Amino acid sequence: MNKSDSERIATILEKIGYQPTSRKNEADLIVVNMCSVRQSAVDRVYGKIQDFTKLKAQNSKLKTILTGCILKEDRKKFEKNFDFILEIKNLKKWDKILKKESNVKPLPWLNYYDGCDYLEVEPKYQNNFRAFVPISNGCNNFCTYCVVPFTRGRLVCRDHKEILKEIKNIIQKGFKEIWLLGQNVNDYQSPVNSSINFARLLKMVDGIPGDFKFFFTSPHPKNFSNELIDTLVQCEKFGKYLNLPVQSGDNKILKKMNRNYFVKDYKNLVKKIRKKMPGIKISTDVIVGFPDETKKQFQNTVKLFKEIKFDWAYIAKYSPRPETAAFKLKDDVPLVEKKRREKILRKIIENIKKHNK
Ligand code: SF4
Repeated sequence: MNKSDSERIATILEKIGYQPTSRKNEADLIVVNMCSVRQSAVDRVYGKIQDFTKLKAQNSKLKTILTGCILKEDRKKFEKNFDFILEIKNLKKWDKILKKESNVKPLPWLNYYDGCDYLEVEPKYQNNFRAFVPISNGCNNFCTYCVVPFTRGRLVCRDHKEILKEIKNIIQKGFKEIWLLGQNVNDYQSPVNSSINFARLLKMVDGIPGDFKFFFTSPHPKNFSNELIDTLVQCEKFGKYLNLPVQSGDNKILKKMNRNYFVKDYKNLVKKIRKKMPGIKISTDVIVGFPDETKKQFQNTVKLFKEIKFDWAYIAKYSPRPETAAFKLKDDVPLVEKKRREKILRKIIENIKKHNK
């Protein structure tokens, strides 16, 4: 999603008059589009500050902007390090500040950037094969480890007509892969027609003429309805790949994470999907070392991995995030143990890959 946001930021900056450069010592403006999902991503931004100070010493015109998913606490800390901290969804502010900086005239196209309307900005795509199309922004789920509801806010869905318009435009440009994006895609409901849910939206995407495949990320298992499965079966252009985050293979940990499903629900869902769509590739997201995760509870995740045989897994070591509910819990699984658990799961995935070759 941040990648897609960056493509929109690039459009804005170019319209204002900035040109991209790959050499940071030539830049008059550096925009950092931050992610707060893990502490390591935040630390990477801290790590850049010294570099910016050096660059500013060489180029007095250089301005820096911090945007993206930023927690309140980090925002305060970063205030002294960046010239501007701007919300991507508040592009009117960008206009005002950047106009002052670059002396460009007011631009009429900025008028409709309000709330989540920034998604209507045509992105500057990074390639001509794969395009990302956000369908919603934010999330209402409040998984206890996750910052999204605090950084991106509550779920806001895009008008389905705008989404379809964007996809048609992309297909005409010759793109072959469309990725529908959202923090919880299958919670989608069109703001202009409440009968259009995620399944109906996919049907409409599938009906767009052209030679392309569509994918989406990420769905929540609890919102994965039978209607959605049946729709996917019917969609000729669905790319037959699913990232279905499980996060843990232990019921008690899932409860502490506020995921709202049991391991058996997840297993049944995968079973149903594989039965209806044989050959579909399924990956997952999982967190190891959540507070209080015992070795026995981790073994339940190992068991699940061996049973489901995911095609791929994005394995994260738990990192406490300020503002989230889990932040109040003691991060009591030592890093060395988190790394050990990560290694075990990675090995299972690699063995499955080897076996499938
Ligand atoms: S569903 Fe995803 S984005 Fe929403 S709170 Fe949970 S982990 Fe975060």
